[in-house]
Amino acid sequence: MVLNTKLRHVVNCFSELFYPKICINCGQHLFENEVEICQLCMQRLPKTYFEMKPDDNAISAMMWGRCQIKHAYSLYFYRKGERVQQLLHGIKYRGNKVLGTELGKQVGHTIKNNAPIAYDLIIPIPLHPNKKAKRGFNQSEVIANGISEVLQIPVDSECIYRNTFTSSQTKKTRFERWQNVENIFSLSNTTKLDQLNLLIIDDVITTGSTMEACVNTLSQSSCASISIATIACAAI
Ligand SMILES: [Zn+2]
Repeated sequence: MVLNTKLRHVVNCFSELFYPKICINCGQHLFENEVEICQLCMQRLPKTYFEMKPDDNAISAMMWGRCQIKHAYSLYFYRKGERVQQLLHGIKYRGNKVLGTELGKQVGHTIKNNAPIAYDLIIPIPLHPNKKAKRGFNQSEVIANGISEVLQIPVDSECIYRNTFTSSQTKKTRFERWQNVENIFSLSNTTKLDQLNLLIIDDVITTGSTMEACVNTLSQSSCASISIATIACAAI
């Protein structure tokens, strides 16, 4: 075991020599314990601190009256052209899954340190199969895996699925957006959700329409509660 760790360290040092790992944000060399982004850049990201009041924050207020949410978490504020958006684009469009899992772990630690209840099952917001095939992966699933690793609770990507292809949400009014996503999700096996505290995951929450549709669909099961967590939320 010790030999294995030492061997891995030596291999890491060698690969570092030829392919030094650098922070995707500032370009500085990363320390061995840093993944994709350096500690300094990570600390400079605009935190929301929503975890201090998971049942009473800007996201739970935004979703109030639209769907039943127990707790809402989001690590960072998201603004166009800023660092958090670049990180999310790195995951979604440049396929940086390592970064997705790493940010998922950060969400996991935040929840672990602050959650008022224990959650039982993590559910990533499903992508339409066509979109998943095109992208090769579902970014919410990658993030969910990072959260799962820290919270030690399983991920289920089967119980809810997407049944229609929605057109882009941008340039639509709030009502049009709601109409566009109202019936996009369906449940497959609801009995396994009975009495469970669910945690729904997405990369970012902006208007909340997709999350609202997903929560409302899952509310048709006999789950005990539904909470939501994202890496970022649109700055309000
Ligand atoms: Zn950096």
